[in-house]
Parts: sequence; structure tokens; C-alpha cells
Amino acid sequence: MFADIIIDVTSGKLDRIFQYRIPEALQEKVKIGSRVQIPFGKGNHEISGYVVDITDKTDYEPTKIKDIAGILEKDIALEGKMVALAAWMKEHYGGTFVAALKTVMPIKKRENNKEEKSASLAVSREEAVAKLEHLLLYKNQKARVRALAALLDHERLSFKALKDEYQVTPSVLKALADQGLVKIETKRIFRLPQMSGEEGSDEALTSEQQKALDVFLEDYRRGEQKSYLIHGITGSGKTRLYLEMIEEVVKEGSQAIMLIPEIALTYQTVRRFYSRFGERLAIINSRLSLGERFDQMERVKNGEVDVMIGPRSALFTPFEKLGLIVIDEEHESSYKSEQMPRYHAREVAWQIAETEGAALVLGSATPSLEAYHACETGKYTLLKLENRATKGLLPEVRIVDMKEELKEGNRSILSEDLQEQIRERLARKEQTMLFINRRGYAGFVSCRECGFVYKCPHCDVSLAAHKNNRLVCHYCGYETQNQSLCPECGSKYIGGFKAGTQQIEELLKKEYPEARVLRMDRDTTREKGAFEKILKSFGEGEADILIGTQMIVKGHDYPNVTLVGILAADMSLYGNDYRSSERTFQLLTQAAGRAGRGEKKGEVIIQTYTPEHFSIQLAANHDYEEFYQREYAFREMMGYPPAEHLLAILLSSPEEELLERGAKYLKDFTKLLNKENLYGIIGPATPYVAKIKDVYRRVIYIKSEEYQALIHAKDKIEAYTSINRGYNKIYIQFDFDPAQGI
Ligand code: ADP
Ligand code: ZN
Ligand code: ZN
Repeated sequence: MFADIIIDVTSGKLDRIFQYRIPEALQEKVKIGSRVQIPFGKGNHEISGYVVDITDKTDYEPTKIKDIAGILEKDIALEGKMVALAAWMKEHYGGTFVAALKTVMPIKKRENNKEEKSASLAVSREEAVAKLEHLLLYKNQKARVRALAALLDHERLSFKALKDEYQVTPSVLKALADQGLVKIETKRIFRLPQMSGEEGSDEALTSEQQKALDVFLEDYRRGEQKSYLIHGITGSGKTRLYLEMIEEVVKEGSQAIMLIPEIALTYQTVRRFYSRFGERLAIINSRLSLGERFDQMERVKNGEVDVMIGPRSALFTPFEKLGLIVIDEEHESSYKSEQMPRYHAREVAWQIAETEGAALVLGSATPSLEAYHACETGKYTLLKLENRATKGLLPEVRIVDMKEELKEGNRSILSEDLQEQIRERLARKEQTMLFINRRGYAGFVSCRECGFVYKCPHCDVSLAAHKNNRLVCHYCGYETQNQSLCPECGSKYIGGFKAGTQQIEELLKKEYPEARVLRMDRDTTREKGAFEKILKSFGEGEADILIGTQMIVKGHDYPNVTLVGILAADMSLYGNDYRSSERTFQLLTQAAGRAGRGEKKGEVIIQTYTPEHFSIQLAANHDYEEFYQREYAFREMMGYPPAEHLLAILLSSPEEELLERGAKYLKDFTKLLNKENLYGIIGPATPYVAKIKDVYRRVIYIKSEEYQALIHAKDKIEAYTSINRGYNKIYIQFDFDPAQGI
């Protein structure tokens, strides 16, 4: 037998299949997905690789084929079906096969099992009592007395409990075991991340929820595993609906994967899932230790898990019989990987669902243009939830023009209206959330006389002002001292403009000394658990105002929040990015959705310098449909996704001249490829951030209605750059339908 092997190096040049013979001794062990040792090259030095196929034929001269040297059993073998998925990902997103294989492997190494030792009596109670009374006669046998007494009280005790509560050491237990008085047992325990359940409401489904569930179940039970988009306003009960759908699927003997955007959501969502599925739920996220992650996957393989919840990597959970994949908040940018292969969880989930015969459910209050468009083409079925589940009404939204505010002499970051409303909330003992698009004490620092802006010497971005007069680069961490005079012209009118979370916190403390204020941004959530702590304490009413960045807008449900202030709403409109209107609409809608989740009506104030922008206007009117129509028309006119497909080819190198030349030649090559005029070519351009950590960057875009045409171009470019020496020092990445850019 022969094995097709992909060797484990990141070099694009070696990214092809090599054949080896499977020696007699390894016939039983080597499977698709196994990691093996193989002799390689002239010197036959041993390297490792993955088996991607096994055949009994070969195209090579059989005597020239080398033998596999050994199998790496400590490494985890990849599930066979995951190899096929990796091949699909390589084809669709580019990059090496090895990179794709590693992406679909949730756990790479075997971790040591964790064990727990416990002790119980090995003799009858009478014998134990007799022995204990005997031992009491001796002064130096106190520890043994304590041990026997404890085990008479409790049938079984862990070594840890015996040590912590009874001061009995393992050596004492060992001695008792040698005497035949005590039995010691060792049990494998699974490292479970800490979870706790929260009483989920088991009130009857709303009629909208029931209708959506019925559509899904009718298809599912008929054996039609389709794809759905739940477009449900914030608070319409989407999560509740996911729970019901998953429960049905599990009842029928299948398993489900539940994707949530990022760690941010685990606190509330996981608790709801845990109360429903208990020990049959597994969770995976980046905060788990390797051991914990390994154990979660072991439980999956042992068939002990029905539901896996986690961020995009949870997609690669090797379930036996997958019935459903749910993607909550499907519009979130964290579903797109920013490393090769740059896949989108929505597309990969679709592919997995197709091959496994599973259903796919996406949900959002502000669906991506991609998902909503797919409903129009019939790829997904649209399910709508148009009312809040808890009878609450959508909040009233007001837009405040900050230019007017300045004209009337208000120089504060907070408009008169917002200040007034906060004061009212404090008096009524209701809570306020203030959301800002930025972190840090203030944004970039510039000179109002000559226009000088402080920039990072390593990255092409402006520095942000922090406390203690420090200027910090958010890309590489570079820091320098802020000067009181402009280094260019000596003017003293140099300073920061845009406000950040810290500045607002200080302002609030001054304006409302009695208010209890919490702040959530990257600085206050660095420590493990800090995030949950802040949310929990706000949820328990320990603060009146919560200030935060993007982090606070997602999915948290606080009935006592009746006011949401959105500061610098238009910040996300700047930056040259074809998705900026969409992102702004989503942010504003989600943030506004935090208000009035309980009985009391909510109010939202959006502060902006561009009140006329359609994404701001339509978010204030809660009008997704109109927003979608206008934005889609724009994408269509410009030929941007999802109207057409876009491939970004990112080139980076520490040598600028080399990069310049490489980008130019690559553009010429793509032109040559395009004889039939299947696509448009843009660039090479300098991206928004032209340099990161002293590495220069360029980008070329290819646009086409046909995804397949872009895949074809990608394959040719990969071949061209891998044989051409000029590209040795240029790193090339492909990004299909990028999350940002242009
Ligand atoms: P979404 O995920 O759409 O934001 P959730 O599922 O979190 O909505 O529901 C919002 C709130 O409504 C939650 O407090 C939830 O407990 C409640 N809720 C959901 N479904 C119902 C229902 N059928 N009856 C009463 N309350 C419900
Ligand atoms: Zn100046
Ligand atoms: Zn920098």
C-alpha cells in the first residue's frame, strides 16, 4: 500500500503530494489523517507529514518509492473527513495544504490525562472501628486515626479532600493501603471549564418563534436539511429559538455546533445553554488551557457530547452525526479568519452542512449583506422575528448633530440632551450605557497650526494619546512621550481631539460625582475574568453607568438599562473600506438594541457629525430592509461583494523596493492571465496601513462575478510566485471577499 503525504513545512514550494510505501509493520496503524515520520530528500533526513490518502497503485517506479519510517502516535490523528474539508479550504482560500490541515485540527497534541486519587475503607466498618481504637493507644499514629475516622464518616474521599480537610498526607494513605485497611482508586477526570447554569425562561414560545421553529422542523423531519437566516430584531428571542432547534436535533440522535462571535458572549449565552444541556454541552475557546481543550475533544470522540459551543474554530468539531450548525450574530467580523487560509465561518459551515447532511441556521438583528442576499437568491430560507419577545418596545432613537452643539457653545463631548437624560436616569435609579467607537484617552494628536500628526516610526499609523502624556502605537506597542510644543513648528496648539473611554470616565466623575461608573475597554479587561466581572457587577446594579467600546454592544441583556448614548457614531464611517456603512449600521443598531430590554421604555441618543448619512438615519429608524436595498445598490454599482466577488492579493516584505517590483510584475502577470477579460484588476495599491512592524505592504484586487474565475487566478498566481525567485522574500496572502479594504 502507498500513502499520499503532505509534508509539514510551511514552504509553498514543497506543498504537494509525496508518495511513500506503508511498510508491513505499519499497515494497521497508518490511516488517512495520521501523522508520520518520513525520510526526505537526498540526505534522507527524517521529517514529519500528514497522510491525506491511501492507495494501492502508484505512478512512480515502485523501487524508487521510500518507506514510511514511523508513525507519531503521541500526535492526534486527523479525522478523515477533515482532510477532505482541508482540501476544500485550500482550493477556496489559497495557501498551503499544511496550513489548511492545521486549521481544521482543533487540537494538535495529546495532553496528559488528569487523574484523581481517592480512598475508601477496604475492611468492614467494625474492623475499621476496632483498628481505630487500637491506634488511639499510640501517640504517633494520630494521622492514621484521622484518616480512618474520616473514612468512617464518608464513604469515599479524594486525596485532596483528605489533605485539605483532615491533614492526611498521601504517604499515610499509602501506608494504610499497604496494611490492607484502605483501598485507593485512580480515576481519569476530565478538565471541564467552569460553567454554571442560569434558569432559562420556559415560558411558551411567542407565535413568531413557534412559526419559525415549525418551518425548520417540518423540513428537518422530512430529511431536508436546509439553510436558514433568522432575521430577528434585538431581543426578539433568537437565542431561545436556537435552543429549541438544537434540542429537537439532539432528541433525534444528532449533534449540533453553536457558534458565537467571540469570548465576549460566553458569559450569558453559555449559561443558558448549560442550563438546557448540562453535561452534554462542551465548550471551546481561547481561554481554555490545552488540557481543557484536549479533554473537550476526547469527550466528543467518546460520544459524551451533544452540543459544542464556541467561536469559529468550534466548526471543526469531529461529531459522529452532525445535524445542525447555528451561527449567532452571523454578521460579526470575528467569523472571518485573518490568517491563511482566510476563511469565513459562514461559508465553511455551509460546506460542512452540505457534505454532512446537516442543517444550517444563521441569526442576526443586522444580517450581513451576504446572508440577506442569499435569501433573495433562494440559497437560504428567511425566517423573521419582528417583535421583542418580552413585549418591550424598540427604543426611541434621537440623532444629535454635534456641529450644531458646538455652534451653540457646548464644547463638551456630551450633548445637552444626553447630559440631561443621564441626570434623569440617575435620579430614577435606572442604568445608562455609553458606547464609544474607540479606546484610549484620546485619539491621534495633531498640530492645529501646521497639521503635523504624531506617527509610529514602524507602522504607518498615527499614535494615540494615553494617560501620563504617553503616545502609543496600537499596532506594535511603540511608545513615546508627548511634547507640549509641536516638534515641527513649535506651536503650542497641539493636542488630541477625539475622546476615548478614559476621558469620558473622568468627565462623568466630574459632572456627576454621585454616579457609580464602570469602564470596559481593552485596558480594563486585560486580566482573565475581568470581562465577566465588569458585566456581572453592572448586571447586579452595582453601577449606574457603563462606558465601553465595541465590547459592550453585543448581546447583553440588562432590563434596567433605559438609556444608551452613542458617541462619535460616525467614527466607523471613515477609513477607506467598502463595508464601512454596513459596519456603522450594524454597530448603531446593536448598540441601540441594548436599551429598553425590560419593562421600561428605552431611549437612545446618537451623537454624530454626519447626521444625514443614510446608515445613521436608517439605524435610527430601525429600518434594515431599506438599508439593505440602498447598500446593495451601491455594491452592485461598484462591483463589490456580495454583488461580485473580490480577491485581495496582499504582498508584504521588509524590502520596499523589492516589494514594489514584485507587485508590479504580479499585476502584469494577472493581466496576461486575463485574456478573456473575465475580471477587473485594481492596483497595486498601498493599503490603509502601509507598514506594520517595519514590513511594507501592497495590495492588488481582482474583481469578478465568478468566484471560480478568482480561484483560477489564485492557482496561477501561486504557481507563478512559487517558481519565481523574485518572490522568495515576499510573503503573499490571498483574501477572498475581504472583511475590509478598497
Ligand atoms: P435575542 O437572542 O434575539 O436577542 P433572546 O433569546 O436573548 O433574544 O431573548 C430576549 C429576552 O426575551 C430574554 O430575556 C429571553 O429570556 C426573553 N424571551 C425569549 N423568548 C421568550 C418567550 N417566548 N417568552 C418570554 N420571554 C422570552
Ligand atoms: Zn505644528
Ligand atoms: Zn507601530
